[in-house]
Amino acid sequence: MGKLDGKVALVTGAAAGIGLAAAQALVGEGAIVYLTDIEDERGAQAVAAITAGGGTAFYSSQDVREEAGWEDIIGRIKKDQGRLDILVNNAGIAIAGSITEMPLEAWQRQNAINIDGVFLGMKHAIPVMDLHESGSIINISSVAGLKGAPGLAGYSGSKGAVKLLTQSVAGECAADHKGVRVNSVHPGIIDTEIWSKMPNGIDPTEGLLANITPQDGANTVNPQDIGAVMAPVGYAGMPQDIANGIVFLASDDSRYMTGSALVIDGGLTA
Ligand code: NDP
Repeated sequence: MGKLDGKVALVTGAAAGIGLAAAQALVGEGAIVYLTDIEDERGAQAVAAITAGGGTAFYSSQDVREEAGWEDIIGRIKKDQGRLDILVNNAGIAIAGSITEMPLEAWQRQNAINIDGVFLGMKHAIPVMDLHESGSIINISSVAGLKGAPGLAGYSGSKGAVKLLTQSVAGECAADHKGVRVNSVHPGIIDTEIWSKMPNGIDPTEGLLANITPQDGANTVNPQDIGAVMAPVGYAGMPQDIANGIVFLASDDSRYMTGSALVIDGGLTA
């Protein structure tokens, strides 16, 4: 008997990292999970593994920047399952670089994925959640959405927006009395591939990432090296650490929580 038996969930950016761990953990508690991503091969492999393990999951290609894609996936879930209980707005990117060197195109691309994607997800999920008068939306922000992150200013701005967007929509949903809760999660340094994908690379001499020694080659910083320097506990967290918080927010264990910012950061912001 899982905590999420009978629930239907959608997780974006679920082919890798935190999103994949969240999808696996939600399935582990009995939810039917729709995974979406732009990495179709990895997404399909993830679903095949979940299905082979006895879980129920589906993969769809979805770029969270596109409204038509949101209409498609939420329409499909409504048609096939008749409900949507959990939305994890997880897809995100990080672009490093000082504000004076940040190309407008990079700034806009980051905001389109990190903010527009969250906006569109909530816009299209809430009406379906309202049908059954319950739902949990979990928006993945960052510790960089709680305090400034020199060297990652654009990312920090986008994640700060996710926090206040979450709180504002939580207030709107609470006032509707339809049982939809909206919370944000703020991971610290988590051991995923995002650290090796940062366009513009990481300047080890600057700001947030000062004192980090990159390995040979561009964009090959090891998150465990960053965790060792930055996290008071002395190491980077794992995707499962964030997935545990996501399951808590998805389940009725957190039924009195909405508009909250759940920090999981090994003491980084303490
Ligand atoms: P990963 O890069 O490991 O996984 C993110 C997934 O989202 C990738 O498969 C990525 O594909 C996909 N994605 C990128 N752009 C889009 C898009 N437009 N539409 C749909 N999917 C997309 O990242 P993490 O698991 O580390 O990050 C997950 C979330 O957690 C992000 O929002 C991130 O900002 C946040 N976070 C992560 C932290 C960390 O230390 N890892 C710390 C704080 C917050 P592709 O590989 O092509 O980019």
